[in-house]
Amino acid sequence: MNKEFLSIKKLIETKGYKFTIQKRIILEELFSADIHLTAKEIYSKVKNKNIGLATIYRTMNLFTSIGIVKEIHADGMSYYELKMYSKKPLHIHFKCIKCNRIIDVDNTGVEIKYLKLNREIEESKKLQIHDANIMLIGLCDKCK
Ligand SMILES: [Zn+2]
Ligand SMILES: [Zn+2]
Repeated sequence: MNKEFLSIKKLIETKGYKFTIQKRIILEELFSADIHLTAKEIYSKVKNKNIGLATIYRTMNLFTSIGIVKEIHADGMSYYELKMYSKKPLHIHFKCIKCNRIIDVDNTGVEIKYLKLNREIEESKKLQIHDANIMLIGLCDKCK
Protein backbone atom coordinates (compact mmCIF):
# COMPACT_ATOMS: atom_id res chain seq x y z
CA MET A 1 0.00 0.00 0.00
CA ASN A 2 1.38 3.40 -0.86
CA LYS A 3 1.65 6.36 1.50
CA GLU A 4 -1.61 8.00 0.37
CA PHE A 5 -3.57 4.80 0.90
CA LEU A 6 -2.05 4.23 4.30
CA SER A 7 -2.99 7.65 5.58
CA ILE A 8 -6.52 7.36 4.18
CA LYS A 9 -6.79 3.96 5.84
CA LYS A 10 -5.70 5.53 9.11
CA LEU A 11 -8.22 8.35 8.75
CA ILE A 12 -11.07 5.90 8.09
CA GLU A 13 -10.08 3.80 11.09
CA THR A 14 -9.69 6.85 13.32
CA LYS A 15 -13.29 7.73 12.48
CA GLY A 16 -14.34 4.29 13.65
CA TYR A 17 -14.81 2.52 10.32
CA LYS A 18 -13.15 -0.51 8.82
CA PHE A 19 -10.93 -0.14 5.80
CA THR A 20 -12.62 -2.89 3.82
CA ILE A 21 -11.47 -4.37 0.53
CA GLN A 22 -14.49 -2.66 -1.10
CA LYS A 23 -13.39 0.73 0.16
CA ARG A 24 -9.92 0.05 -1.12
CA ILE A 25 -11.14 -0.93 -4.60
CA ILE A 26 -13.37 2.15 -4.84
CA LEU A 27 -10.47 4.33 -3.71
CA GLU A 28 -8.24 2.82 -6.39
CA GLU A 29 -10.81 3.80 -9.02
CA LEU A 30 -10.95 7.34 -7.70
CA PHE A 31 -7.18 7.62 -7.78
CA SER A 32 -6.90 6.30 -11.33
CA ALA A 33 -9.80 8.32 -12.74
CA ASP A 34 -8.83 11.78 -13.81
CA ILE A 35 -12.42 12.91 -14.19
CA HIS A 36 -15.48 13.29 -12.00
CA LEU A 37 -17.42 10.11 -11.55
CA THR A 38 -21.01 9.48 -10.60
CA ALA A 39 -21.83 6.61 -8.27
CA LYS A 40 -23.15 4.69 -11.29
CA GLU A 41 -19.94 5.23 -13.21
CA ILE A 42 -17.94 3.92 -10.27
CA TYR A 43 -20.34 1.00 -10.11
CA SER A 44 -19.79 0.10 -13.75
CA LYS A 45 -16.04 -0.05 -13.08
CA VAL A 46 -16.22 -2.26 -10.00
CA LYS A 47 -19.34 -4.39 -10.40
CA ASN A 48 -17.25 -7.32 -11.67
CA LYS A 49 -15.54 -7.23 -8.27
CA ASN A 50 -18.79 -7.97 -6.48
CA ILE A 51 -19.50 -4.48 -5.20
CA GLY A 52 -23.11 -3.35 -5.27
CA LEU A 53 -24.46 0.10 -5.99
CA ALA A 54 -25.73 0.49 -2.40
CA THR A 55 -22.20 -0.09 -1.10
CA ILE A 56 -20.90 2.58 -3.44
CA TYR A 57 -23.47 5.14 -2.30
CA ARG A 58 -22.68 4.32 1.32
CA THR A 59 -18.94 4.51 0.75
CA MET A 60 -19.13 7.79 -1.15
CA ASN A 61 -21.24 9.32 1.63
CA LEU A 62 -18.64 8.26 4.15
CA PHE A 63 -15.72 9.46 2.01
CA THR A 64 -17.46 12.81 1.52
CA SER A 65 -18.28 13.25 5.19
CA ILE A 66 -14.71 12.68 6.32
CA GLY A 67 -13.21 14.81 3.56
CA ILE A 68 -11.56 12.19 1.34
CA VAL A 69 -13.82 12.99 -1.57
CA LYS A 70 -15.53 16.10 -2.82
CA GLU A 71 -19.11 15.92 -4.01
CA ILE A 72 -20.15 18.17 -6.86
CA HIS A 73 -23.83 18.74 -7.55
CA ALA A 74 -25.08 19.48 -11.03
CA ASP A 75 -28.65 19.04 -12.28
CA GLY A 76 -29.63 16.81 -9.40
CA MET A 77 -26.68 14.53 -10.05
CA SER A 78 -23.76 13.96 -7.72
CA TYR A 79 -20.27 13.72 -9.10
CA TYR A 80 -17.29 12.72 -7.03
CA GLU A 81 -13.63 13.51 -7.21
CA LEU A 82 -10.74 13.05 -4.83
CA LYS A 83 -10.19 15.88 -2.40
CA MET A 84 -7.30 14.43 -0.43
CA TYR A 85 -4.15 13.99 -2.51
CA SER A 86 -5.81 15.57 -5.48
CA LYS A 87 -3.30 17.08 -7.88
CA LYS A 88 -5.71 19.97 -8.31
CA PRO A 89 -7.23 20.68 -4.90
CA LEU A 90 -8.90 23.99 -5.63
CA HIS A 91 -10.49 24.50 -9.01
CA ILE A 92 -13.51 25.85 -10.80
CA HIS A 93 -15.90 23.53 -12.65
CA PHE A 94 -17.53 24.13 -15.98
CA LYS A 95 -20.59 22.21 -17.07
CA CYS A 96 -21.71 21.95 -20.67
CA ILE A 97 -25.51 22.11 -20.96
CA LYS A 98 -25.50 20.15 -24.21
CA CYS A 99 -23.20 17.16 -23.62
CA ASN A 100 -23.32 17.36 -19.79
CA ARG A 101 -19.57 17.14 -19.56
CA ILE A 102 -17.95 18.59 -16.44
CA ILE A 103 -14.60 20.15 -17.12
CA ASP A 104 -12.01 21.18 -14.55
CA VAL A 105 -10.76 24.70 -15.03
CA ASP A 106 -7.45 24.06 -13.38
CA ASN A 107 -4.65 25.91 -15.07
CA THR A 108 -2.29 27.50 -12.59
CA GLY A 109 -3.11 31.12 -13.35
CA VAL A 110 -6.77 30.57 -12.56
CA GLU A 111 -5.95 28.55 -9.43
CA ILE A 112 -3.83 31.32 -7.96
CA LYS A 113 -6.49 33.94 -8.65
CA TYR A 114 -9.13 31.68 -7.14
CA LEU A 115 -7.02 31.17 -4.02
CA LYS A 116 -6.44 34.91 -3.75
CA LEU A 117 -10.16 35.58 -4.07
CA ASN A 118 -10.83 33.17 -1.21
CA ARG A 119 -8.22 34.89 0.97
CA GLU A 120 -9.62 38.33 0.17
CA ILE A 121 -13.14 37.25 1.13
CA GLU A 122 -11.83 35.66 4.33
CA GLU A 123 -10.12 38.89 5.31
CA SER A 124 -12.79 41.34 4.29
CA LYS A 125 -15.67 39.36 5.80
CA LYS A 126 -13.66 37.84 8.67
CA LEU A 127 -14.61 34.31 7.60
CA GLN A 128 -12.79 31.05 7.47
CA ILE A 129 -13.33 29.30 4.15
CA HIS A 130 -12.92 25.52 4.17
CA ASP A 131 -13.96 24.72 0.65
CA ALA A 132 -15.37 26.41 -2.43
CA ASN A 133 -17.70 25.39 -5.22
CA ILE A 134 -17.91 27.43 -8.36
CA MET A 135 -19.77 25.96 -11.31
CA LEU A 136 -19.74 27.77 -14.61
CA ILE A 137 -22.49 26.76 -17.01
CA GLY A 138 -22.46 27.02 -20.78
CA LEU A 139 -21.32 25.31 -23.96
CA CYS A 140 -18.02 23.49 -24.32
CA ASP A 141 -15.74 23.95 -27.32
CA LYS A 142 -17.21 20.88 -29.05
CA CYS A 143 -20.84 21.94 -28.58
CA LYS A 144 -20.46 25.66 -29.28
ZN1 LIG B 1 -20.49 20.01 -24.68
ZN1 LIG C 1 -13.01 18.87 -10.49
